[in-house]
Amino acid sequence: MTGLKVLISREQIAERVAAMGSEITRDFAGQAVIFVGVLKGAAIFLSDLARQVQLDATFDFIGVSSYGNRPSPAQELKSGWDSTGEVRLTKDMDQSMQGRNVILVEDILDTGLTLTYLKKIVQAHQPKSLRIAALLDKPSRRKQPIEADYLGFSIPDEFVVGYGLDYAEKYRNLPDICIVPREG
Ligand code: 5GP
Repeated sequence: MTGLKVLISREQIAERVAAMGSEITRDFAGQAVIFVGVLKGAAIFLSDLARQVQLDATFDFIGVSSYGNRPSPAQELKSGWDSTGEVRLTKDMDQSMQGRNVILVEDILDTGLTLTYLKKIVQAHQPKSLRIAALLDKPSRRKQPIEADYLGFSIPDEFVVGYGLDYAEKYRNLPDICIVPREG
């Protein structure tokens, strides 16, 4: 695709992710944590963030998708990203979260529907603590009152790709976070 515009550079991402890692290290000093990444968008963020955390750490992954007739990516760009509001689990966690310090790792907090749903699922395991680490946040799009405990960047209402985020499964491997231009 032509016309991708860098919004957040790889250097800015690295600097912010290192700071988030230090915060987590400080908050959980002397304890173990489990990072639970939301597939697939958070995979790259999780692997960078975890390497900036100096604690005993383990990983798990959870998969979700939205119900309903999601428009094609091109339509999504024109009319704005919108899910039906119903979220479905496509892959559960492999381990029990009971009594553990869980850090849910998500690429982007948009309407908040996905993380609200996932938070409930993890809470049902009775973790010792539950925190949310999100790389990006689009506060203007929020439909559920949910915030990240560790946040990378607040961004405007644009559709972004790169650093794990896709457009029709492409562009996840771009090292920078880029804006996809809206056509028409
Ligand atoms: P929420 O449930 O908070 O509305 O949506 C979170 C999910 O929507 C993210 O995990 C991501 O998959 C998708 N999403 C929201 N905004 C964007 C965006 O700008 N770019 C991409 N690639 N995905 C997005």
